[in-house]
Amino acid sequence: MVVRPKIIYIAPLGDMEEEHLRCVAESITEQFGLRVLIMPNQGPPDYALDARRLQYNSNVILKRLMVLCPPDGVKILGVTPFDLFSPIFAHVFGEAQFGGKCTVISSFRLGGNPDSSNARGCPPLISRLEKEAIHELGHTFGLRHCSDPDCVMHYSTGLQCADRKFAFFCPPCRDLMLWNMAGDLFLKV
Ligand SMILES: [Zn+2]
Ligand SMILES: [Zn+2]
Repeated sequence: MVVRPKIIYIAPLGDMEEEHLRCVAESITEQFGLRVLIMPNQGPPDYALDARRLQYNSNVILKRLMVLCPPDGVKILGVTPFDLFSPIFAHVFGEAQFGGKCTVISSFRLGGNPDSSNARGCPPLISRLEKEAIHELGHTFGLRHCSDPDCVMHYSTGLQCADRKFAFFCPPCRDLMLWNMAGDLFLKV
């Protein structure tokens, strides 16, 4: 019998608050209906450090996550407190392999405007981390950016955009996500 991977792993890359990781894990389970396991801290992603920019290359981290992902993992989400860049952006909140297995998010730039709040009354950093995690995991399930500004798949140009949207999918994105997830979980061997 072929055992198909069904777990979403969270890989802390550096010191992250346990409560933050737990909230992100709960939020992912709520949205994707999958089991989420938090791995031990994998340490700072020094292998991805660009010494000139003093930032970490998200592409390099994605490649590393591919190796770190346990065999029963359908996706792996790296969460790091360090600042990320990609070759085409000066900095990124996160990056994902579109339709792939790996994604990484950073809390480095998500802590501003501490007075803003959200419907659940969570501190903004946690709420932003949750949205960023769901957004990037959405990309790994083949979702593109959505024009609905309330939808978690809306492209955030900054923290204001990120705070405006909800931590869940609009109905069309949700349908597509469930359809693609079925493909990831049940059709591929
Ligand atoms: Zn995106
Ligand atoms: Zn949408």
